[in-house]
Amino acid sequence: MRDFSADHRWLSLNTATVRKQGDLLAIIEACARHNIRAIDPWRDQVSIVGVGRAAHAARDAGIALSGYCRGGMFTSDAARRVEVRDDNRRAVDEAHALGAPCIVLVVGGLPQYSRPGSAPSKNIAGARAQIEDAIAEMMEYAKTARVPLAIEPLHPAYAADRACVNTTRQALDICDRLDPGRTGVLGVALDVYHIWWDPDVLSQMKRAGKDRLMAFHVCDWLVPTTDILNDRGMMGDGVIDIRSLRRAVEQEGFDGYSEIEIFSNRWWSRPMDEVLKTCIERHRTVV
Ligand code: ZN
Repeated sequence: MRDFSADHRWLSLNTATVRKQGDLLAIIEACARHNIRAIDPWRDQVSIVGVGRAAHAARDAGIALSGYCRGGMFTSDAARRVEVRDDNRRAVDEAHALGAPCIVLVVGGLPQYSRPGSAPSKNIAGARAQIEDAIAEMMEYAKTARVPLAIEPLHPAYAADRACVNTTRQALDICDRLDPGRTGVLGVALDVYHIWWDPDVLSQMKRAGKDRLMAFHVCDWLVPTTDILNDRGMMGDGVIDIRSLRRAVEQEGFDGYSEIEIFSNRWWSRPMDEVLKTCIERHRTVV
């Protein structure tokens, strides 16, 4: 297992962590100041400054990407299928322009929440089938751009509105069905917030292996959690045994960034430099 205690060269910052403190250019500048070598930007943050400027700024600062957030929200009613397909193809084009090593997929829940305006449905099995078909289609497009897709299983609390792929097993089942040859185009993004509770998680990490383990996200689970979306904890402030999970992915050969992704009203209200300093300190002592 890699020793993170001496430096933070394997720290990547998911830029949503400081999205309220500045735009993407300001975040890149702050990362450069703190010697953070990688980021995972969000599409809305990129679109505000423009893909070209974002790519330039990161390159000039010597900052790499650990992923691109996010593709997906595949579930919709029939009227919106083409819109969903085209939106995800644009995500692939942007990821390619930015040099992202993968697109993180948040696959969507029930259609009316994933793509507002869609006809309401309670058919979660149907939603899951639709997701698999849409990933299969997106994969073909992503292959030509050589941008791998990383399915992020989300905690079951998000099954209705964000993702009804809720376990690592479920995500890997999709990978095995759509990419049985393990060609490198499809894998998983594992976020400790979503997977820490899962009794199968260690055996599923083994099953995934290095070629399917495309991203590793860290934060912490606070008790009590006051907001299921925006009350993520700083590493060390909650109950997740982050180091054991990191050890398990590294045992399979994962050697990428440990990406900090914290959506938190608490941390969004702190100055950017304070948040980054705390991230670095916790990366070295807790992750
Ligand atoms: Zn994540």
